[in-house]
Amino acid sequence: MKYLDEYADSETSGRLLKNIEAVFRKIGRPVTLMEVCGTHTMSIGRYGIRSRMPEGLGLLSGPGCPVCVTPAEYITSAVRLAEMDDTIITTFGDMLRVPNASGRSLLQFPSHKVMTVYTPLEALKTARANSHRKVVFLGTGFETTSPLVAETVRMAAGGNVKNFFCYSAHKLIPPAIRAVAGNPAAKIDGFILPGHVSVVIGTKGYGGLDIRGAVTGFEPLDILSGILDLLEMIREGRKDITNCYGRVVTAEGNVIMQNAMEDVFETADSRWRGLGELPESGLRLKGAYSRFDAEKEFGIDAESEEDIPGCRCAEVLSGLCIPPECPLFAGTCDPSNPAGACMVSSEGACRAYYKYERK
Ligand code: SF4
Repeated sequence: MKYLDEYADSETSGRLLKNIEAVFRKIGRPVTLMEVCGTHTMSIGRYGIRSRMPEGLGLLSGPGCPVCVTPAEYITSAVRLAEMDDTIITTFGDMLRVPNASGRSLLQFPSHKVMTVYTPLEALKTARANSHRKVVFLGTGFETTSPLVAETVRMAAGGNVKNFFCYSAHKLIPPAIRAVAGNPAAKIDGFILPGHVSVVIGTKGYGGLDIRGAVTGFEPLDILSGILDLLEMIREGRKDITNCYGRVVTAEGNVIMQNAMEDVFETADSRWRGLGELPESGLRLKGAYSRFDAEKEFGIDAESEEDIPGCRCAEVLSGLCIPPECPLFAGTCDPSNPAGACMVSSEGACRAYYKYERK
């Protein structure tokens, strides 16, 4: 396989692959690992890592793509907000193309009504420049983006901006891992933990999870090291959290970012595509900052919605199937005409399989 050899130091990657093979043989049974993060999913596809694993060692994608886990009803509510005369919706680009069950998406609106932004600060700037309109930022993502949103909300409060609102679908990774690990149908032996999230929450952020986990970066050698760590744990029959990304991840994480999140948000139950409603797995604006809460401002009370019939995103995100097992994969669903969120997002498992592993 050329990719891994092209991108990684072949001597080191060769040694890691040999060790993976050797430890896997000693385990003597099939093993399933899950990479939680969408960026890992893309790296595994890009470098051809899955195809270099011994037969019986499976790598499944998990619920770590922010666009993918945002449920269909959130899209419906965002579309309703965009239909109001006095609003401007601001969002990261991937959210534009996600369809709800009726096939509607934010892409149908003109760019002065639904704007793509690269940071929440751009949304705040838009609010300042359009004081006669209510500017809603679609706050999606995990512990990586929520501190930036928290800081933006603090700036809005400090500047007494009255027309900026956040529609929060922010989610927390540890409760999602707990849900997947606790599902006997998924049978995950170990988790490749997300590097970016771990920079913020530190390895201590996974305390209380009864899992095997390895925090890794996104380069091929990082991922191979994480896989080897997990296999060693399985062979020794122990559960632990190891850190293979010590060049940026610490035990404590980034305390400044954690404080920003804690100042502005409080945890709340949250619905995930695929995992359903998970207790204390989301973030909502709290206290003095709740005046920036779009759900309160617009009285949003979204009812749970199904995905498009036939779409198996929910099972893909829970580790219950792989994208090619979806009947729509590469047929009626592809990146130019996505039927589900996992094909839309640049970090989606279906998108990764389509791009790198389509037969
Ligand atoms: S291939 Fe398309 S329809 Fe099937 S699970 Fe993936 S995103 Fe959903």
